[in-house]
Amino acid sequence: MNTITSKEQHEFRIKILAWAATQHRPMPWKGERDPYKIWLSEIILQQTRVEQGLPYYERFVARYPTIDLLAAAPEDELFKMWEGLGYYSRARNLHATAQYIAQELGGQFPDTYEAIRALKGVGDYTAAAIASFAYGLPYAVLDGNVYRVLARYFGIDTPSDSNEGKKTFGNLAQAVLAPEQAGVFNQAMMDFGATHCTPALPKCAACMLQSTCAGYAQNKVLQLPVKGKKQPKRGRYFIYVVFELDTDTLVRKRSEKDIWKNLYEFPLIELAENPTDEDQIKAAILAQFFPEGLPKDVFLPIISKKYQQTLTHQLVSTWFCTLYLPIDYRARLLSNPLISGFQQVHRAQLTETMAVPRVIAWFLSEKPSVLSLF
Ligand code: SF4
Repeated sequence: MNTITSKEQHEFRIKILAWAATQHRPMPWKGERDPYKIWLSEIILQQTRVEQGLPYYERFVARYPTIDLLAAAPEDELFKMWEGLGYYSRARNLHATAQYIAQELGGQFPDTYEAIRALKGVGDYTAAAIASFAYGLPYAVLDGNVYRVLARYFGIDTPSDSNEGKKTFGNLAQAVLAPEQAGVFNQAMMDFGATHCTPALPKCAACMLQSTCAGYAQNKVLQLPVKGKKQPKRGRYFIYVVFELDTDTLVRKRSEKDIWKNLYEFPLIELAENPTDEDQIKAAILAQFFPEGLPKDVFLPIISKKYQQTLTHQLVSTWFCTLYLPIDYRARLLSNPLISGFQQVHRAQLTETMAVPRVIAWFLSEKPSVLSLF
């Protein structure tokens, strides 16, 4: 990469601001100066598409218009509100940070970059976004859109996820920032990447930056930004056993330091390897819950289809098995160590008030006939 002169940086800055002046992409948080609402929108939008996050943002703002109200919300209620967004550590951090600000800072959101960055769940990107949007502080945001725009326009092929790349792009993003209009400029960079210089179909033919875009001149737009090799995801194999106890079923709150902490789930068997057929799944259920063989009147029904959820570092494959349990067998089941700590809840309580992992929500929503059997 050749050295980028300050004249080139200035030219880029002017062109991005000129492009932004021609655009109008309305979002409820755009132009917002309340740091609480900006923080809320940024946490919701981490790892979430705008279209998906928008209704959540609106529901949260309507229900918790101030940080004190968010801090006072019961955790189960907040998790239920979050259901479907995934990455529940964000909801936990949201609650913990709201309580910290309400109780320790008298409800006043911090107003320096360092103090914002120190909040739980707030990384460099989110801190820069809040600092620039709410307070006009000169901190450049660096997200996937910004990486792509900078890599293409300046023709940088250093892998964006390498340490060297993070440093190069971080310095460049800060150097091109319009410090007097930090919020406007940051928003423009993200919008330009999201709507114009997009990953697969950038609008190069109609681009105001084309005449000075190095990636375009070198005909390598679609090769940029360069990414390093990805680590393979860890595969996990879950079998959920959905016990039908008339109108009730059995659930527990996950408490381990693992995925889906604080969400509710059915009794779980985790396999070490990907099961190759349905018989393996049935055998695992029998071994765990019926080592002496299936009691009379209990039938192992068909196993559900496989549900897959991709997390940042894991790929979780899940199967469900719904079992109706006759009354005279329930006491024995409830003494099974795998079930200790589980609570018996009505199906309506589960679906209406308890937050569950996304795979369970998918299963419940796709299986109304199963639900009605509870
Ligand atoms: S010319 Fe193409 S690659 Fe360059 S900034 Fe414009 S849209 Fe992006």
